[in-house]
Amino acid sequence: MSIKNNISLYKLEIESKPCKLIAVSKTHSIEKILEAYQAGQRVFGENKAQDLVAKWASLPKDIEWHMIGHLQTNKIKYIAPFVSLIHSVDSKKLLEEVNKQGKKVKRKISCLLQVHITAEETKFGFSEEELIALLESNFIYTLEFITIQGLMGMASFTADANRIRNEFKYLKNLFDKLKERVKPTSEFKELSMGMSSDYKIAIEEGSTMVRIGTAIFGDRDYSDNTNS
Ligand SMILES: *Cc1c(COP(=O)(O)O)cnc(C)c1O
Repeated sequence: MSIKNNISLYKLEIESKPCKLIAVSKTHSIEKILEAYQAGQRVFGENKAQDLVAKWASLPKDIEWHMIGHLQTNKIKYIAPFVSLIHSVDSKKLLEEVNKQGKKVKRKISCLLQVHITAEETKFGFSEEELIALLESNFIYTLEFITIQGLMGMASFTADANRIRNEFKYLKNLFDKLKERVKPTSEFKELSMGMSSDYKIAIEEGSTMVRIGTAIFGDRDYSDNTNS
């Protein structure tokens, strides 16, 4: 299957639901991204700030760039001028820095709060208790240059579909609970969950954004990538 065909098929399947396709182009070349662009894809996700900047600089300017990977505070300044959504905000310190950089470039930057699912391997993300405390604190309302649009989460890396479904259910539940509990802004509306292997389950469980890489672009190419 070509990238072009993949985009057509996934767009049709995913965007017929109230869900958005984020094409995860990390490690892939400008040429491959252009192929997806020519098939109509306008939203791309990268997991490293320097790659996001390089690709933003060399590709058409009507692309929406999403940051989906762990972000270091000292890298935010590079992406603040153009990034459309940061999926991976996982600390108060990062929120403060995004706000600071948003202020500098006079942009309100949209963010999702990354949730740490207890069973999952990654060490990144807020726990449920931390999220509730954060969203009920006054701190969050001092962040004038941030719009919190919702939550992001990753299911465990496992072949156990039941476990994956339960983790997505947990995330959706938490999303609904926070939406209700916190002084709700109408902007708290996105739930980013689901990747190539589990996007179908994620959509069934209420995802509004799926992040798909391998299924569109094929295996990742690390050969021309300085992978740290
Ligand atoms: C790489 C990555 C994806 C895409 O994964 P695939 O399995 O290739 O679809 C999604 N989300 C995050 C956070 C990623 O780092």
